[in-house]
This record gives sequence, C-alpha cells and structure tokens, in this order.
Amino acid sequence: MSINLINYQKIKSIADSYSAQLVAVSKTKPLEDILALHQEKQIVFGENYVQELVDKFDKAPSSIDWHFIGHLQSNKVKYIQPIVKLIHGVDSEKLLMEINKQAAKNNAVSNVLLQIHIAQEESKFGLDEQELTQLLKNISSGKYPNVHIKGLMGMASFTDNHTQIKNEFISLKQLFDQHASEYQLDTLSMGMSSDYQIALDCGSTMIRIGSALFGERNYQKS
Ligand SMILES: *Cc1c(COP(=O)(O)O)cnc(C)c1O
Repeated sequence: MSINLINYQKIKSIADSYSAQLVAVSKTKPLEDILALHQEKQIVFGENYVQELVDKFDKAPSSIDWHFIGHLQSNKVKYIQPIVKLIHGVDSEKLLMEINKQAAKNNAVSNVLLQIHIAQEESKFGLDEQELTQLLKNISSGKYPNVHIKGLMGMASFTDNHTQIKNEFISLKQLFDQHASEYQLDTLSMGMSSDYQIALDCGSTMIRIGSALFGERNYQKS
C-alpha cells in the first residue's frame, strides 16, 4: 500500500477550509489503496479510464461516489452513465447528447461539468469561450432534460510558471462567474496535486488530487 496519509489529512483540511470538495484521483492505482483511503472517510474517487472504473466499481463498496474525470468517448458513455455521480470532462454537444440519451434510458439525470480549454498547450481538451456560450444556450432550450450542468472544469498548463497557472485559473473563474447565476452553476473543478493551492485561491470548489495522495503513477504497471 502506498497512500500518503499525511498528505491526505493536510490537503483534506486545506480543501475543507475553502469549503471545496476533494476528489481522490485513483487512476492506475489498486483497489486496496482506494479502500485504505475510504477507511479515512474519503468518499469521492475520480477515474480516467472507462474499463478501469467499471472494474473498480464492481468490486468497491457502494459507499464510494465515483467521478469520471478523463476524456470520454461517446461510444463508452453507456458503461459509466449508470455508475458515476459526476462527469467532469464534457467538451462537445455530441457527447452531451449521448449522455442525455443514456441517462434517459435509465430514467436518470446525469450531473456533468463542461470542460474549458484554459491551457496554452494544444493537447488539452475543452471548449473555448464562444463554444461554451453556444452550448449553454442550446442546453437552456430544454433539449437535454436528462443532463444537469453543474459547472465547469479545466486544467492549467503543465508548467512551473505560477503566474501563468494563476492567470489560467482566473480566466476560468471569470467564465464561471459570467454564467453561474443564469445557469445555476455551483461547481468549479480546478486544481491538481501541483497546483491545487493556486486553484483554491482562485475560487476552485473542487480539487482533483492523484499523485500527492497515491504516489507517482507508473503507467507500465497498469
Ligand atoms: C490524473 C488527473 C488528475 C490528478 O493529477 P495529479 O497531478 O496526480 O494530482 C486530475 N485531473 C485530471 C483530469 C487527471 O487526468
């Protein structure tokens, strides 16, 4: 077992002091690590890969709430829609449509966050400002009754430049504030192991922490 309980207590209490939620990102990590953290009363776990999430969900106690935080392909929505409490990375209307369809089949309403592209890097997914505005408009017309947009999510650039990270989080927070009251958004998911403190200072309500809790990921093993 390789969970870092000292970091967990520290980050949990910092998150609490901002009234922010802590999502423990357990991708590539074994179920025993998840159970160990769950023993410490951690409820929410985030996973990036559909098959891995389904496997873990089947084995884990039902007292765990699962979030899907990775890049989701439309053809895989059906596997995770019934088992997750929140889908963080919705970045297209096509994906939203499919989530709505699967949720409707299951007589459910799926909670989702819209992913916004805030990083300088080309590789990160997400909507730009115009796409967000358009998508929110389309949603408010009532086309997707089985989806509930709870807020926005974003990832800052992978850099040591704190000013840049901060500016990216500030831009996401501004977008959030611009739309929050009209669309009743209450969740702003931003901040990871290396930048959660900056994110919280910029108004994050939900941080997604992996390696600081579970150690570095070894992708070869998973
Ligand atoms: C892996 C991942 C995280 C956690 O990253 P750490 O740097 O290990 O804390 C958070 N959010 C997303 C979207 C991720 O893919």
